Formats: sequence, C-alpha cells, structure tokens
Amino acid sequence: MPLNLYDSLSREIQEVFPMDGETIRFYGCGPTVYGPAHIGNFRTFVMQDVFRRVLETAGCKTFHARNLTDVDDKTIRQSQIEGIPLEEFTKKWTERFRNDCKELNLLSPHIEPSAVGHIPEQISLIKRLIEKGKAYLANDGSVYFNVSSHENYGRLSRLSERKVTTSSTKRESSDEYDRDSAADFALWKARRAEDGNNFWNSPWGEGRPGWHIECSAICMKHLGESFDLHSGGVDLVFPHHENEIAQVEAATDKTFARHWFHIAHLLVEGQKMSKSLGNLYTIEDLKKLGYRVEEVRYLLLSGSYRQPLNFTFDSLRAARKALYKIGKFSRLIAYEPMTRVEFNDFGIFTPVQEALLKDLNTPEALGQWFKTIRDLSAEIQRKELLVESDICEKIRLGFHACCEAFGFKMDNLSNLKIDVPKKIKNLADQRWEAKQAKDWKLADEIRLKLAEKGWEIKDLKDEYVISQMLK
Ligand code: AMP
Ligand code: ZN
Repeated sequence: MPLNLYDSLSREIQEVFPMDGETIRFYGCGPTVYGPAHIGNFRTFVMQDVFRRVLETAGCKTFHARNLTDVDDKTIRQSQIEGIPLEEFTKKWTERFRNDCKELNLLSPHIEPSAVGHIPEQISLIKRLIEKGKAYLANDGSVYFNVSSHENYGRLSRLSERKVTTSSTKRESSDEYDRDSAADFALWKARRAEDGNNFWNSPWGEGRPGWHIECSAICMKHLGESFDLHSGGVDLVFPHHENEIAQVEAATDKTFARHWFHIAHLLVEGQKMSKSLGNLYTIEDLKKLGYRVEEVRYLLLSGSYRQPLNFTFDSLRAARKALYKIGKFSRLIAYEPMTRVEFNDFGIFTPVQEALLKDLNTPEALGQWFKTIRDLSAEIQRKELLVESDICEKIRLGFHACCEAFGFKMDNLSNLKIDVPKKIKNLADQRWEAKQAKDWKLADEIRLKLAEKGWEIKDLKDEYVISQMLK
C-alpha cells in the first residue's frame, strides 16, 4: 500500500514513490542551532519522523537528510552576545538538539550536513548561477539572485495570487540592500564588521553564504539535482523554499524536489508561540513541569499535520491518560519490546496503517489504535482471547508495528507507572473502596481532599487512574 500525501506544490494528494524505484530520498530543513528548539519546531520534526516511519513500516527504503543551520544572522549574533566562538556555540546547541531528538525517539537522519561544512559547494552553485545570468554581483561585494530572470519564481507560494510583484524597485534600506530589485535575495553576503571572524573567502571577496543557498547546495550534493520529497514547517514555504527551488532549477533546468510536504504550525493555548508571550516551551521546560517526552510526542501527533494544532496543558494531561491505557494494554498482552524489524505486519491493526497511509492522518490512526485496543482488551478480559495463543502472538506483532509507526518506545510505556506517595495511594484506595460500597458521600469527600493535595482520579471500569494535576 503506498503512502498518499498532500503536495503543497501541485495542491493535490499524490503518491510518494522513489524516482529510482528503490529508495525514497527526502530532505527536511533542520534547526538553526542558536538556542534550544521549541515544541513548535518539534511538531515539524516529529511529523517528518512519522512520515519516515510510515514508509519504513510499509516496507520502503528511505534516505533522510536534515541539515544544521550553523551560520546565519541569528547564530552569529547570539554567539557574539555570549562571547563564544561560533563553532563552539553552535556545537553546544547541536548537541542539545540531538539530545532532545533522542528523547523524543526521533530516528536519526541518515546524514546531517551543516552549512559551515558545505561552503565550497555553496560557492560553486553561486558561480553556476552567475555564469547562467541568473545572479549578479552588487557593488558591496554581495551576490544576489535575479528573481525576474527566473520565469517559474513564485509557483510554490502562489506569489501572483498574493499580488507581490517581483519587479518592485522599492528599497527597504539603501545601505542594507544594494540589489537591483527588492525581490532579489542574497546568495552571498559580503563581510560586514558585525560578522566578526565569521567569514570565508570567495571569488567575490570575503563574506558568507545566504541561508537559502545552504539547503540547495546540500540537497544537490547529497540527494542529487532531483529527488523525491522536501519538507519543513509552513513558515518556510516563502521565501525559503521558493528560493531553494529557484536556485536549483535555474542552475540545473531540472525539477528540484518532486513533492513538497509542509507541516502546519503549533499554537500554544490558542496563540502564536513567541518569546514575548512567554509561551515558547522546550522539551526541558515541560520535563521540569513534570511531563514526559512521550506525552509531548503523543500530543504532537494528535492533530492532522494539515491543520494548526493547539497545544494546551489539558491536552498534555489527556495524552498521559491515553499513554497509560496503551501501556496497560501492552502489559495485558504480555508485550515485550522488540527490535526494529524491517517489514512490519500490522495484522488486526491494519486500519491504523491505512489511516497513516491516507495523508498521514495521525488523529484517525490513533483513534483506530484505541478502538482495536479496547475491543481486544474486552476479549482478553472475557477470556475469549488467550494471551498464550498464536493469535495473541500476531497481535503483539501488530501492536509492535503500531508503536514503530507512531514512534513510541514501548519499554518506556509498559513501565508507565506514576510515582504516587504512599499516603495519597492509601487515600485513593479508601475512596475506591467507599465507591464500591456505594458510599458516595465519603468517596466525594476523599476526592476533594486528593484534589486539594494536587491529585486527580479518573475511574475506569474496574480500577482507577490517579494522576498529578500539573500546571
Ligand atoms: P528553525 O530552527 O527556526 O529553522 O525551524 C526549524 C523547523 O521548525 C522549520 O521546519 C520550521 O518551519 C519549523 N517551525 C518553526 N516554528 C514552528 C511552529 N510553531 N510549529 C511547527 N513548526 C515550526
Ligand atoms: Zn532549508
């Protein structure tokens, strides 16, 4: 079964397939390593991870490249504020990023090339563009892409629909923009005083590459002039991806990426994430508040990637309950975590896979997962399904395939126990007994007492779940 996915360039659902008939080669724009990534960034990275996992669990080979933006205005500025050399500074944030990715159980990309590691490749692409008359050297020593020379410019972002003219000659600031048209963008930025030691030699003098050229040059080197799919958050559609396409297609006259996969933004409590609103959460922030990375991962999968997703602490708590149920089921079927297997058989969980293959519909897939878990749990409890049976062995395999596709590490989930202090546990037990004895008054009193102490109880059919009320 192939994966059908919305393509932002054609605006149609298209089958994702390898152009070489073998390996799906894809690129995701990576982080700018100047600070910790926030959960919004991780929505994009988690969705790209699920994209890859869905392909792999369907038996496809993948090749995943994700870059590190380790030189740009932000990295340079922040390293200078902190008085740390750029390389040392970006290394620190790269390590932090990799660590967060590991915690979130993201598969490592097959390659992780950096901008600084590809300066010669960027210079040669710029040279090629100048030779083809698609770029020009400005008086200040910067090189710009000539947007009006490229007929297809604006196709991805529907620039003509946005009524932005590429022929505008308006200059935003004469010292900063020494270009022919305001739409032209920098391929090479001439050295400026504020860059400090962060410059390289080029045929056009000292300077550094622009941000867009980095991804183009890296893609061409590691994935080829044409490849299967390119991805990022929606904010990258314009100008970043539009410019990436222009640079490569102007140089090669070939189609750059055949498919464009964009992930809608994460909002926090209904608002755009921003430093000034104080709602830019990192993985570490959420861990400090008592949440688990699996809960964050779950939440990030709970909405379709085509729609903005609202992060709330309520939904994070709901994720905890959902994961608790999954962990409970894994114990019920005596599931032992397995190593990653190349071909996964979803078996009775096939509706989960079908939902994922239909435009990566993660909310529908999670719903199908729960439905199957609920039905099977009931059968096991009624003893209609025996844990020792061959059927149950197949269920374990199918369950494993689901965990693999969603990216949940079952060894973490099956041990998902909440550390409840003894006193609280006793109170909760007393309440459960009171409830069984139909002493509703006492049961309610204890519930209130527990709530005062910051604990809440949810009753299931024949047990209760106690959880800490988090922020
Ligand atoms: P950056 O480190 O800023 O280059 O961003 C890394 C990735 O995160 C890019 O693919 C962005 O498009 C994506 N991104 C940034 N903010 C959000 C957000 N609020 N929700 C989802 N993705 C985001
Ligand atoms: Zn990029």
